[in-house]
Amino acid sequence: MLEKTGIPEAGKVKNSLPSKERLKEGPVAVFECFTEIPCDPCYYSCSIGAIKEFEDINDLPELDFAACTGCGKCIANCPGLAIFVLDYNYSEEEGVVRIPYEYSPLPEEGEKVQALDRSGEVVGEARVEKVQNSKSQDKTAIIWLAMPREQILTVRNFKRGED
Ligand code: SF4
Ligand code: SF4
Repeated sequence: MLEKTGIPEAGKVKNSLPSKERLKEGPVAVFECFTEIPCDPCYYSCSIGAIKEFEDINDLPELDFAACTGCGKCIANCPGLAIFVLDYNYSEEEGVVRIPYEYSPLPEEGEKVQALDRSGEVVGEARVEKVQNSKSQDKTAIIWLAMPREQILTVRNFKRGED
């Protein structure tokens, strides 16, 4: 399915997610990287060693959810735009998904957008909480999207206005 449609199978997605208990402890990365390709910059971007060392450059990344602090440094270093950070407890009612974004123009902080799932279907509305776009990110911005917290496991993209 992934090879034909670009949409990962539900089982693979489920296995890539942290437990509910870990989600509630604080921000944590998820790696939705399911195809073995020669790629490993994520490993080198994590200075605390939360990503298991690759034995082969084609290995899929393995994240230690307990060690990950959710700092987000790895997000912009992933050429596949496959890394997200989930923050279940962003506020009393909202969670945040930090999403890599390479389109232009960038959205504005406070902007309301349509939240999309992994297949590009609209699943609700979200708010752009923060736009990170430093030089070190090399043109991969990180968009913090705030939404009802139960949606953070579903939303992986967004679209603006009537695009
Ligand atoms: S979010 Fe931070 S701690 Fe977690 S894997 Fe990425 S770089 Fe490492
Ligand atoms: S950098 Fe991204 S695409 Fe490359 S192995 Fe890591 S998660 Fe996968």
